[in-house]
Amino acid sequence: MELRNSTIIAGPCAAESEEQLFLTAEQLFQTGLPISYFRTGVWKPRSSPKDFCGVGEIALEWLAQIKKQFHFPICVEVARGEHVKWCYENGIDAIWIGARTTVNPFLVQEIADAVKQFPIEVMIKNPITPELKTWIGAIERLQEANAPKIMSIHRGFSVESEHVLRYSPIWEIPIALKTHFPDLQIICDPSHIAGNVNYLKEISQIALDYGFDGLMVEVHHNPQLALSDADQQITPTQFFDLIESLNFKSSVNLTTEHQLVKERNLIGHIDTQISELLKKRMEIVDEIAKIKNSHNLALLQPDQWKKVVQKYQQSALSDADYQKFLADFLDLLHQASLNRQKNKH
Ligand code: PEP
Ligand code: MN
Repeated sequence: MELRNSTIIAGPCAAESEEQLFLTAEQLFQTGLPISYFRTGVWKPRSSPKDFCGVGEIALEWLAQIKKQFHFPICVEVARGEHVKWCYENGIDAIWIGARTTVNPFLVQEIADAVKQFPIEVMIKNPITPELKTWIGAIERLQEANAPKIMSIHRGFSVESEHVLRYSPIWEIPIALKTHFPDLQIICDPSHIAGNVNYLKEISQIALDYGFDGLMVEVHHNPQLALSDADQQITPTQFFDLIESLNFKSSVNLTTEHQLVKERNLIGHIDTQISELLKKRMEIVDEIAKIKNSHNLALLQPDQWKKVVQKYQQSALSDADYQKFLADFLDLLHQASLNRQKNKH
């Protein structure tokens, strides 16, 4: 691990209690890692009103205590102009605009107007939908408001085609943002992209290999008890291990070696997705076995399988070697499905 000048942001998804914030901050402090900002959500934008929506302004006082005790700069999510005012008045160091807020130019403008009045550092997460222009527009609004420092955060995009991760990283979009604003810091939030703890390392390493400027990771002293995003939070010790395991590099002059590492990590990530998808496929096979069983249908449905093979072959690379590989692979897959169904019969 060599962190170089990376921005490291860690802290719980949401502020839940004074004790939870204190324990998480204390354990993060004990790791000795150079934490650039301690993060937490005070007001949580949740899909369902029945979900935990944050404790509100009271947490700003708790955070002031954390700052005093551990000297961590603090960052908090805002979604309205008055949130900016309250953060500023409580000595919060930076605010971030969440993915569900960046999509709304009215709200971003309201926040920008508040920043004009209460100057504070701002991090802008990508809009939840994959729209580069909306992300750029939000950054421009904060630039016009003369925010003292602006950074961006890549937290993935909501798309129907993503099956393994919680949000699709669509790396081309943050890379295009960096091309548009070469001097803008871009930080990766692997926690929201992954939605679970299994892919944090892969996603973080891909981001670092691309030359991202840092990471924002959700860390909770006891993730199992977390009131929001429990599946994707890690303990301070796990966070230390994660950071230790990563290869931080300079974002300039990626050498061939570095490019190779980057491609290998991408392949590694695709491989884990393939493995997850195969697992999901087998689970569906089990359902099919049940249906065939209850209707007394034969296991082998040759016409159906022919259609599947044709669909694959049409969309595959056309060279003969690859077509042969695909045919062998599909045979194996088919055989494995049949064996599985047979065993369930
Ligand atoms: C968060 O960081 O906890 C959060 C809600 O982020 P996002 O806007 O990326 O969903
Ligand atoms: Mn969260």
